[in-house]
Order: sequence, then C-alpha cells, then structure tokens
Amino acid sequence: DKIQEERLKYLTDTKEIKAVTVLFSDLEGRLHMLDYDKKFLIKSYDNLTFDGSSIRGFTAQRESDLRLGIDWGSFYWGPADIFGPGKVLVFGDVIDKSGTPYAADIRGILKGFADQLYSKHGYTMNAANEIEGFIFAGMDAERRFPDTRRFEYVNTGGYYHSLPGDPLRSFIDTTAEVLRAMGFQNEKDHPEVAPSQFEINYGYGEVIGAADQIQLYKLVCRQVATKLGMTASFLPKPVVGVNGSGMHTNVSISKEGKNLFWDPKGEEMLSKLGWEFTDRILTHGNDFCLVMNSSVNAYRRLDPHFEAPNQLKASATDRGSMVRIPIGNEKSMRVEVRAVAPDANPYLVLYSIFKTGLEGDTAKIENLRQAQRYLPDNIYTAIENFRNATWTTKLLGEDVKARYADLKEASADRCPRLLGTFVKAQEVQFH
Ligand code: GLU
Ligand code: MG
Ligand code: MG
Repeated sequence: DKIQEERLKYLTDTKEIKAVTVLFSDLEGRLHMLDYDKKFLIKSYDNLTFDGSSIRGFTAQRESDLRLGIDWGSFYWGPADIFGPGKVLVFGDVIDKSGTPYAADIRGILKGFADQLYSKHGYTMNAANEIEGFIFAGMDAERRFPDTRRFEYVNTGGYYHSLPGDPLRSFIDTTAEVLRAMGFQNEKDHPEVAPSQFEINYGYGEVIGAADQIQLYKLVCRQVATKLGMTASFLPKPVVGVNGSGMHTNVSISKEGKNLFWDPKGEEMLSKLGWEFTDRILTHGNDFCLVMNSSVNAYRRLDPHFEAPNQLKASATDRGSMVRIPIGNEKSMRVEVRAVAPDANPYLVLYSIFKTGLEGDTAKIENLRQAQRYLPDNIYTAIENFRNATWTTKLLGEDVKARYADLKEASADRCPRLLGTFVKAQEVQFH
C-alpha cells in the first residue's frame, strides 16, 4: 500500500538511518524489540520470523515460529543520545503460520476492533493516559544496572514542587525533551505528590497510537533515568505510606471529528452515550479488574487515602472512584478511568475498556455515583473474578483468557503473600 511504499522510500533515501527497531508486546504487556539492519529490512520486511516460544503468553515450543509484519503507520525517529545513532522505531504485527493476526497479540486485536467499529458505526476511539512513576537513585558504579541494595528518593518532593537543578527536575526536563523530539504532543509535566514521583502529560490520540505511546513513554523514561544514573519505576506502589503511581486512562469516542461524549445539556455535560459507557464499565469493573491491575503490587495502590480508587462508582470530584468525569468542553469531554496501574498491558487495558464500554451489559445502575461494590483488594480475588466472568470470555475468547489468568496466577504465586513494608528490589526493576 501507499504508506508502506512511502516509508520504504524514506528509509532508502535517508542515509542517516542505519537500523530499524521493531517493537511488539507480550500478553502481559512487556515490550520486546528486535533491531534489523536497514538494508536487510528493506529486502525482507515481508518475511520476518521469530521464535514465539520465549515470549510470555505466546506459542508453546512445538509451534514456536511466528511472523512479524510491520505496521508502517507507526514510525518514530529514535533520538540518538537515547537510542543510539541512526535508528527508527516501528511497531510490529504478530502473525501466525496461516497468515492471520496472532490471537495473543493484543495490539492486533485492538486494531481489528478499531477497524470494525469504524466500518460499522464510523466511530473512532480516543485515549490519553496520565502515567505516573518514581525515580530512584542507585545505579552500579558503571551506571549500567540498578544497584538493588539502595533504592532511594532523589528529592523530597511534593506536588508541583521542583527547583532547577533538582535531580527529579533534570529527569523530567530531559524526558520531556526526548518525547517532544519523537513527536509526542507534550502538554505539561510536574513532580507528583509523593517524593521522587513524576508525571508527564501529552495529548490524546487515536487508540492504537495512544497505546504505542504508553510503551514508548515508559521506555524513554527508563532510558533517560539510566543515562542520569537513576532508575525509573512504574511499579504501582513502590513505597508504603505515600501515594502510588496510576495510569489514569481518559477515553472518548468521536465520529466525523465530533466528540460523542459531549452534551452541554447532559449531566456533568457528559452525553447519554458517555453515561451508558460509564455504566457498562462499572458493571463489569470487577470482571476485568485483573486487566487494569495485573500485578500483586497493584492492589496495594487501590486505597482512597492515597487518591487511588477502590469504589465502583463515578464522580466528578471523588478520587477514590473508579471513574471520574472531569470538567471538559466540546473537544476535551471524556471519562477518566482511574483504576488503571502503569504496569498493565496498555493494549489490553484500552481494548477492554472500549469493548466493555460499548458492548458490555448495562446493569442500568440506579445511582452511578453511589458505590454499591468495591474493587478487589488482592490479586487472587481479581483472578477468581476474571476467571468466573462470562464477559471476559466474550472479551478475549477461552484460550487467551485462560492463558492470561494462568500467567497472572503464576506470577502471584511467585510473590510471598506477606511482603511486609519492603518491596523486593526485583519488582522495582522489572515494572
Ligand atoms: N497517584 C494517584 C494514583 O495512584 C493519582 C494522583 C492524581 O490524581 O494525579 O492514582
Ligand atoms: Mg497525577
Ligand atoms: Mg488524573
């Protein structure tokens, strides 16, 4: 097609580009990257294969080979001081032997859903995520690996508190600059409530691009932190007694450029479609909580005393609600799903929220603003809810549903149930 042709020509003509990094994510949302030499890629882009058996949630050993297609619509220059010289980044489509999108590649599933919604209703799904994280001091002497013996705050912190030259400020400034260079529509950035905590916001986008940008954002944060001799962590609750990190997911639907969630006469100026959407995700919130909160640690965050939700309700103001309806206008009206942790699989989160919001059951909850139910306070309850729900089968199919639940159960079993006050260093490192 046209875009493929254009991008191949651009690769050929641009001498500075040496290699192409192809990115895809496993079922748990961990990002994987393969670097291809540019010349090789130009020749072989339609015949890239990889071994799926070492990717979590992908194929079993005996059926291990998978294909990687290139989504030429995604295309980012990697700033050289972060990614090394001459690299561009593209996202890949995982394809099975028979040439169909691979069922555990949730990015592909989300893409299929986006196409289907568009052709059926003319709908476009839009998303913007507010991704919080922590910065810890502590790298080994060569600044190569986190020194897991000492994760310490890099500043004393406080909301919006920062001084020029403060290590957290340097981290935020450098990261914002890298994101800008990659074409993110930066909006604002600031230290968050907890010491050493940050948040960098950028503009909303169409759902696939928005999910890709979550993966890139976290990658860039980690790279920048490493460069500065620090460690970035997206663990939902790295330190007890202070705020954890959320990934509030703002969503809306548009049609022919018009925001269908906006209605100046609606309650909170949210349209009927927006309220039904809210009803459906609250109705099924416990069914797919495991998708939004996918780690043992995520359940430690869900505490209203720290601005994180545990109640299945909607509110304009109460930050302990799963859904908040922020004040908006014709352009920005949206629903903010607060119950999402930054270590979740962003493709799975967005797919589940939109599919549920549009196609789930409505309980016709009488008073959406009153909590009748609560989110689980531990992963084992969330796994049980997820397994028992018929909705999650409709969402993912038997096979992918079971694979996901099994992975989560295995990771929960590996974590001692009583962790006390200290988070294992390994948890910090890998989320
Ligand atoms: N850190 C809070 C959370 O865990 C959110 C704070 C805010 O509202 O920005 O969700
Ligand atoms: Mg925040
Ligand atoms: Mg928010």
